[in-house]
Amino acid sequence: MSALATYFKNISEAATSVFEGMTITFSHLLREPSTVQYPDKMPKPMVESLPERFRGFLKVDMEICTACLACMMDCPIDCILIKTDKDKATKERFLTQFDIDLGKCMYCSLCTEPCPTGAIHFTKEFEKATYDMSDLVFNFVPEGEKIIPYVAPKKEKVPTDAEAS
Ligand code: SF4
Ligand code: SF4
Repeated sequence: MSALATYFKNISEAATSVFEGMTITFSHLLREPSTVQYPDKMPKPMVESLPERFRGFLKVDMEICTACLACMMDCPIDCILIKTDKDKATKERFLTQFDIDLGKCMYCSLCTEPCPTGAIHFTKEFEKATYDMSDLVFNFVPEGEKIIPYVAPKKEKVPTDAEAS
């Protein structure tokens, strides 16, 4: 094949290739989009689409935390840091720190299972984009505050059949 013929053949192949590519591109202009702009154009809030047992960020309800430290001791990768102190005069114990490093957390649930009151639990929250990993350390005791641990009320003794009769 002469050089001129090769030259025109290459131009023809290039034009065919561009045409095929543009055919696919233009065909997509007429189709319904299969993607959704998140989060602005979601048909319903993301939280409502998540399964019931979704494991999002951990949360601690401090009103029912007994400061037993079970969650901290069971976390295999030391995400949880709890500090307690005692009032020398009244001997009252209180929480001074309760932090969870959600940047390290692997959402294994080993901390929620031993909790006697269900104080530590998963939420459906998961959005927290940040450049600073320290933003992912959640503090449940505000700095400088002291929280008195929850004490579960003693259960009433249920009389046995013999005692009741
Ligand atoms: S879910 Fe697992 S990794 Fe995360 S804090 Fe609890 S025990 Fe630790
Ligand atoms: S969150 Fe639960 S397991 Fe952790 S210290 Fe409080 S009561 Fe104990």
